[in-house]
Amino acid sequence: MEKIRKAYVKTYGCKQNFADSEKVTGLLLTLGYIPVKTPEEADLIIFNTCAVRENAEQRVFGNVGALKKLKEDKPELVIILCGCMTQQPHMAEYFKTKFPFLDAIIGTDILASLPSIIGAEPVSYEDVKPLREGKYSANVPIMNGCDNFCTYCVVPLVRGREVSREPASIISEVKGLIEEGRRDILLLGQNVNSYGKDTGTGFKELLQELDNLDGEFIISYMTSHPKDCKKELIDFIAESRNISRHLHLPVQSGSSRILKLMNRGYSREQYIELAEYARNKIPEISLTTDILVGFPGENYEDFKETLDLIEKIGFDSAYTFIYSKRKGTAAADFADPVPAEEKSAWFRELLDVQGRISERSYEKFIGKTLRVLCLGEGRTSPELLTGKSRQGIIVDFAGGDELLGKFVDIKINKALPWALKGEII
Ligand code: SAH
Ligand code: SF4
Repeated sequence: MEKIRKAYVKTYGCKQNFADSEKVTGLLLTLGYIPVKTPEEADLIIFNTCAVRENAEQRVFGNVGALKKLKEDKPELVIILCGCMTQQPHMAEYFKTKFPFLDAIIGTDILASLPSIIGAEPVSYEDVKPLREGKYSANVPIMNGCDNFCTYCVVPLVRGREVSREPASIISEVKGLIEEGRRDILLLGQNVNSYGKDTGTGFKELLQELDNLDGEFIISYMTSHPKDCKKELIDFIAESRNISRHLHLPVQSGSSRILKLMNRGYSREQYIELAEYARNKIPEISLTTDILVGFPGENYEDFKETLDLIEKIGFDSAYTFIYSKRKGTAAADFADPVPAEEKSAWFRELLDVQGRISERSYEKFIGKTLRVLCLGEGRTSPELLTGKSRQGIIVDFAGGDELLGKFVDIKINKALPWALKGEII
């Protein structure tokens, strides 16, 4: 009998990377591998890496280093490194010299390289069925790459130019997922608003087609870029049936001067106008954002404009980052005089302010009735079900397992910083 082969896939970074790993695991499954939860059990180890910030890279270095011993104990073990870190030539070189026990270093186009390394037939991206976690949710990449070249960001360098998937292929995939009982679909792209520049069907048209599929479900998407997010799109979402009322709209900075240096393509005023437009059109919307602190040349005045903007908009939550210099980006050559300790102090101030805002922001939902998809994952006690509202907010309520995968109306009676509580009506 042939030996059962076991694969361990570890993923760092963004949802796109997780979606890529789901494809890889799906492919491995068809080749007879079974997924395992620890590297010690595995015959094949794949690390799908992230290059967006230095601390993500440091984690990879540490974890790859720890594999050396495994390889010594089990020389037939195959270890492959892929993803955004390995797409950078200087980094691929570094891995080769520092970790000579690695079997292959293959970049972001994993499905193109992996089959030949493990002795399998070539496959195409569209043909591989991903192995998805959970029963009711699914990530669906709609495009790859980025054309925006924000001056701090390595993504365009490692993921290449924007390429959109064919709309027909996306629509048939989502239709299949809904038929399978999945109700929580997340469309992925670095800038979903420029989806279809190359295929001719724009993001709004894609959403319209998906919204019209049979059934009740939630289609959410990330990431929206403020410079390309059009008012017509917001108008459409306001009247859609199944499109999420969550808008993740990364602002990065509240200072027009810094936004310009970042090459973001919008000003503070344009951002505020867009956010307010979305709030007015979709009063129940949840707005979230990304904020970058300590960009080269940023001063305390600029930073205070960021604090002022987040107070003004009142984001439900924000992902906050300290600037990390990335080789090959434009900003890597900008003068960066502010010491790290000072940036850290600004960062703590930002966390404080946003923490205060987040703590109270869900109070606006108390007394309201929200449509909630019951997911059951991450419950806090056995009697409680966990669900997700059309705003993308976690909602806890008492209910039985027969509701899993279904939608219910929940009257909200309590707001926590990261979740809501309520009762079925
Ligand atoms: N395409 C998305 C985000 C991709 S990266 C967008 O345009 O919003 C996710 C977040 O990481 C960014 O929004 C930014 O806040 C942060 N980020 C990107 N490059 C960074 C860097 N060099 N240092 C610190 N944070 C960074
Ligand atoms: Fe990076 Fe900007 Fe592209 Fe987002 S839009 S991936 S921040 S370059």
